[in-house]
Amino acid sequence: MVRAKKTLGQNFLMHARIAERIAMVSELSSSDVAFEIGPGTGMLTRELLKRAKKVIAFEADQELFEKLQTDFADDIANGRLELVHGDIRTFDIGSLPKGYAIVANIPYYLTGEIFRMFLETENQPISMTLLVQKEVAGRVAQSKKESILSLSVKAYGTPKREFVVPSGAFVPAPKVDSAVLTIRNISKKNFKTRTDEERFFAIVRAGFAHKRKFVLKNLAEAGLFSEKMRSRLEKLSISAKARAEDLPLPVWLDIAREE
Ligand code: SAM
Repeated sequence: MVRAKKTLGQNFLMHARIAERIAMVSELSSSDVAFEIGPGTGMLTRELLKRAKKVIAFEADQELFEKLQTDFADDIANGRLELVHGDIRTFDIGSLPKGYAIVANIPYYLTGEIFRMFLETENQPISMTLLVQKEVAGRVAQSKKESILSLSVKAYGTPKREFVVPSGAFVPAPKVDSAVLTIRNISKKNFKTRTDEERFFAIVRAGFAHKRKFVLKNLAEAGLFSEKMRSRLEKLSISAKARAEDLPLPVWLDIAREE
């Protein structure tokens, strides 16, 4: 048995049935390349290899990397599995083949970074299927109250909370339950240019700066509120007393439009 390293956020899936269910909701087909972040002991990797054309798996832990090399020697030899050793935060996403799909049980400390890295890149995945903290999956996928996190995902794709995985399904068991989150229809269609994208995020961040204040006040304090914005909001019948969490993605996109 491998000893889990806390610093690398290691919580290993213990049941092949759960790994199979994750692979199933990812809707991988035999022509897809799956990209797995943190294969760990290979429980999910095995299921991905049953479905995808090829799996590229990226592991930071040297000890696990060496064990995977032995356990999956045949799949590596026949080219169906490419194992890479390193820290995902320094990975060149551009080196992945176009149209890859991410399927992973990621370490929790990397959740925000993985969303950012893979949604903002030019070489976006076609879909993401991630095991994340249940609370995070709920916050991203719900539609009643928005947050910087939910808007940062919805700006690029359609999130859905698929199913809950209880903490007891992992060793060691994390403090909280997890859930599988899928993000589909990933694209940059909401942004014509990188400047549009940057402006959208600057406005969202400013809008959420003080949670209890009205969004218009937050934007004004950041020097980002204009007359054009006021008339757009009026047209959309948005109350001057709306808070940032009450505004859905289309409204943010509309007020962030430059022209
Ligand atoms: N996929 C395995 C499973 O489901 O049992 C392991 C999941 S565990 C939550 C997270 C995995 O990510 C571990 O194998 C850990 O070593 C790896 N990891 C942690 N930080 C990483 C990083 N910065 N880059 C790449 N892999 C990392």
